Amino acid sequence: MENYQVLLYYHYVDIKDPDQFAKEHKRVCADFNLLGRILISHEGINGTCSGTKEDTERYIQYMNEHPMFKAMPFKIDPAEGHTFKKLKVKSRPELVTLRLGAEDINPNEITGNYLEPQAFYEAMQDDNTVVIDARNDYEYDLGHFRGAVRPDIRTFRELPQWIDEHKEKFKGKRILTYCTGGIRCEKFSGWLLQKGFENVNQLHGGIATYAKHPEIKGQLWDGKMYVFDERISVPINQVEHVVVGRDYFDGEPCERYINCANPECNKQIICSVDNEHKHLGGCTHACRVHERNRYVVEHGITETEVRARLTALENETTNKAI
Ligand SMILES: [Zn+2]
Repeated sequence: MENYQVLLYYHYVDIKDPDQFAKEHKRVCADFNLLGRILISHEGINGTCSGTKEDTERYIQYMNEHPMFKAMPFKIDPAEGHTFKKLKVKSRPELVTLRLGAEDINPNEITGNYLEPQAFYEAMQDDNTVVIDARNDYEYDLGHFRGAVRPDIRTFRELPQWIDEHKEKFKGKRILTYCTGGIRCEKFSGWLLQKGFENVNQLHGGIATYAKHPEIKGQLWDGKMYVFDERISVPINQVEHVVVGRDYFDGEPCERYINCANPECNKQIICSVDNEHKHLGGCTHACRVHERNRYVVEHGITETEVRARLTALENETTNKAI
């Protein structure tokens, strides 16, 4: 089997014509046989892609020689094959969707103090520190830094309002923020500073960089890290593995993510193979009986079997109630 790599990278830099740039960059990536998802905006680039070791190295070299991306670091993971099915290079109004409007900030002008893994690890253990996870709830639920605050948000753009509503918690504290690769924190920590929070720090290079530090070895991370490709999750802590994920149906420790089998729902839930089978891959009764239920279609489950499983579930609920 050929050696593959997954790249994760971003850079805040002025791009004059994002539409045109995206078109040209798609050709570049296609030439290097890359698959993945790369966003281009007037404020820069945010990408993750996979390819053979040779192709990804050539792409990195190309980018490092490009006048706009010379300083851009790459986080590199080994892989056994492509971790994406398609290549998408799209132009977007924002690199990360925060929709700050008039409050929007440029991380090249204002952003939180960068902490390298060692300094972040030490700062986390300080009493006057509050650690805020800048990712979404479903990412947090699979794994997070021990004791980190979990904002109750489905998408990144809900984060500013959530902070506004809970700001008393963070007053006078040293704030640490972290996200997967660092890009969300560049904006989020800058916004916190603009909002008047004073001691704002961000994990430089994100969890992906933290995991690779030779001495820290991902310590104080519990669970796994959610990633936006076919791997779905990757290990972080090389010293100990504490499972924090909980099965959506029975609350048992679990680290397996699935999408609800109802193609109109698609909700991401943590769920064991057994429970997926029992619940026909559906997060609710309505999703289980949806006419285009993917689990039913892909597993060739007959109508009789569907009815039998639904009845079994009903009986289980009735028994529990008794
Ligand atoms: Zn559902």
